[in-house]
Amino acid sequence: MATREEWSMSDFEIGKYIGEGKFGKVYLAREKQSGYVVALKVIFKPKLEKYRFHPHLRREIEIQRDLDHPNVLRLFAWFHDEEKVVLVLEYAARGELYKVLRAAGRFDERTAATYVASLAGALAYCHKKGIIHRDIKPENLLLDLEGRLKIADFGWAARSNAKRHTLCGTIDYLAPEMVEKKAHDHAVDNWTLGILCYEYLIVTVDWAFPSTPRVSSEAKDLISKLLVKDSSKRLCLEDIMKHPWIQKNAEPSGSCIKHKDVTRAKVIDK
Ligand code: AMP
Repeated sequence: MATREEWSMSDFEIGKYIGEGKFGKVYLAREKQSGYVVALKVIFKPKLEKYRFHPHLRREIEIQRDLDHPNVLRLFAWFHDEEKVVLVLEYAARGELYKVLRAAGRFDERTAATYVASLAGALAYCHKKGIIHRDIKPENLLLDLEGRLKIADFGWAARSNAKRHTLCGTIDYLAPEMVEKKAHDHAVDNWTLGILCYEYLIVTVDWAFPSTPRVSSEAKDLISKLLVKDSSKRLCLEDIMKHPWIQKNAEPSGSCIKHKDVTRAKVIDK
């Protein structure tokens, strides 16, 4: 899609309604000049004011528009008028990973390892740019048509030059240093990655390995090295990507979807 100073709704053909969040609605759309398919997130200003969400949205826009990684949802542009703010986002055709996980119950090791590797790669990219996401959870992870993971929703993200103190994120995924309101850094995202990996494979919430479902000893090894209370001893993202479980199971393309399923989804989408 071309870069432009001023965008407006008239630049887009609006397609199907995708869904609704706390602050607005999301639509499939096509940019008229290029024909490029995007998702438009329309956020209503009175709602922003009611929930005092301006600072989050501003931070989300500032952070997300600087990020360009295959596993981070692209924010192509944004514009506003009197009533609304509109984000022009990459379209993630397969929607929330959360729903896919709920429908499947659990993922096989190849799928889980592929998502964990994609997430670790995207977080390593963000951390290198000095960004900590702080709210990684299945609801904030979307899938594109090929089933590639995309991190979305940078409303809680922060620039990480110094240790931070704000308590944020979603309670089930909070790292111990955040729960104890201690200073925290990028290692909070690595804790969450351990929880997600556990959830992808096992689903129950108590932190112990049940006898079923059977999970490989390499997967258990990775989870145990991420769910470490002392954040300085937690495995770093580079080591996650080099871990034997990831090396053995993750798809390098980031997609576990078969070609015929992609073609079928394209036809359904039209
Ligand atoms: P949200 O306002 O972010 O909670 O999104 C509302 C609904 O739209 C949720 O079901 C999201 O999964 C979906 N959605 C948000 N952004 C996108 C996107 N870029 N592509 C596809 N679906 C999206």
